[in-house]
Amino acid sequence: MTSTETPMVRADRVCKNFGAVKVLKGISLEVGRGQVACMIGPSGSGKSTFLRCINHLERVDAGRLYVDGELIGYAERGSKLHELQPKVAARQRRDIGMVFQHFNLFPHRTALENIIEAPVLVKKVKRTEAIERGRELLARVGLSDKADAYPAQLSGGQQQRVAIARALAMDPKLMLFDEPTSALDPELVGEVLAVMRDLAAGGMTMVVVTHEMGFAREVADELVFMDDGVVVEAGNPREVLSNPQHERTRGFLSRLL
Ligand code: ADP
Ligand code: MG
Repeated sequence: MTSTETPMVRADRVCKNFGAVKVLKGISLEVGRGQVACMIGPSGSGKSTFLRCINHLERVDAGRLYVDGELIGYAERGSKLHELQPKVAARQRRDIGMVFQHFNLFPHRTALENIIEAPVLVKKVKRTEAIERGRELLARVGLSDKADAYPAQLSGGQQQRVAIARALAMDPKLMLFDEPTSALDPELVGEVLAVMRDLAAGGMTMVVVTHEMGFAREVADELVFMDDGVVVEAGNPREVLSNPQHERTRGFLSRLL
């Protein structure tokens, strides 16, 4: 990334509280266009909350969060923050894809119907076009033959690949993944990571919360270690993993092995 290019994600001292509990205590980080950032850290450290703030599922209490140079969640006039118009909020949300640990597919819709739902309803894409694109996306995630299968007829790994295709159907400029393989049987993890690898290689900007250190080492441009609502350490994944600078990072990594 050149220094003049606007990063895809920029967090500037982002804080989030739930009541009296401070969950994010000033998160600052940048993710460049086409880059992959992996976030690791103990349970409860605020990783999901951070992703949820990017995707409008939570509201930032202090600090600023920008996607593609645009302030997320608020309108900024001068130095004052205002409520976002619902239309603007909807557009911001539409441009960001999110994949959850539990795939959250509609159980009574086929794989293809799951994928075309949002483009047709939200983006007003013609049904025939959405179907054509949906089939392309199914092929891309290796599920050409599962268009008419219902989620219950698919393995966890296949369901998660449908969920990724569903997110891609909205042509997002940013993809967020919250522990996308944590609910899968070990033998199904690889097929989902392979799809994510392919997406990264295709230039998608991604923020991935994961415990898959092999993926982080090989695919991430930046590894971010969070603990207790702060970024303790961030940098080149190989360097962070092989030579962590902070005691908390060392402790966390040693417990993973
Ligand atoms: P992680 O994803 O790193 O495990 P989370 O972001 O899910 O961490 O949670 C961070 C902290 O925020 C936890 O202590 C959790 O209990 C708390 N928390 C998350 N969501 C809520 C909520 N909606 N209301 C109250 N507390 C919450
Ligand atoms: Mg989480």
